[in-house]
Amino acid sequence: MDKFIDILKKNLDKNIWSDNKEEIEKYLIEPRGNFKGHSSLLLKPRNTNEVSKIVRFCNRYKLPLVPQGGRTGLTGGTMPSSKGNEILISMEKMNKIISIDPDNFLMTVQAGCVLTEIKKVSEKKNLYFPIKLASESRCTIGGNISTNAGGTSVLKYGMTRDLGSISLKQPASAEQVSSQIQLVINCQVPSAV
Ligand SMILES: Cc1cc2nc3c(=O)[nH]c(=O)nc-3n(C[C@H](O)[C@H](O)[C@H](O)COP(=O)(O)OP(=O)(O)OC[C@H]3O[C@@H](n4cnc5c(N)ncnc54)[C@H](O)[C@@H]3O)c2cc1C
Repeated sequence: MDKFIDILKKNLDKNIWSDNKEEIEKYLIEPRGNFKGHSSLLLKPRNTNEVSKIVRFCNRYKLPLVPQGGRTGLTGGTMPSSKGNEILISMEKMNKIISIDPDNFLMTVQAGCVLTEIKKVSEKKNLYFPIKLASESRCTIGGNISTNAGGTSVLKYGMTRDLGSISLKQPASAEQVSSQIQLVINCQVPSAV
């Protein structure tokens, strides 16, 4: 495994990976202390191309990847195994709103975009994105879709995936993680808020 990790590092821009133990340790903190994992590599891709490259490589050599959004999930989903054989892939650099199309109630955002940002930008355009969570200042849209988050508006608007028009822009032959990287979300003004 170490051999493949070395090849992966050589193939990636130095700015998007770290094997520094102290830095990685911060990504292994679980808020309630219920889970403890280990990893020797942290990846922070900046765009879909980098994610595709990483996922293709890891798929070929069967290297397990653990995606991390805002790490607000409380069930250990972002925690790698204690064996230390899983690679962390944080979406924190993929936090951009790419475009907003108010006429069609659409936004295109990167998967690491923080929920509050999406809501703020929608509101500026007189639109409304209905997912509402106490963790919204840290959680990301990729994490919301992955966990199918509910939140305090769930009875009125449904779970994240029930919103219906969240469509994932899928680059050709993309694997599961990269398919969640650039997505188009619906942000329609509700009839009554
Ligand atoms: C105070 C508080 C209140 C909360 N309230 C609610 C609530 O009302 N309803 C609710 O449903 N949840 C709630 N949560 C849980 C959590 O905030 C949500 O599940 C949120 O959607 C997680 O988003 P995240 O970006 O933090 O994901 P993370 O915690 O980083 O990840 C969660 C899971 O998604 C995966 N993942 C993350 N990003 C991606 C990606 N880009 N591609 C593929 N997989 C990915 C991770 O591997 C992990 O398995 C709450 C949490 C807190 C701390």
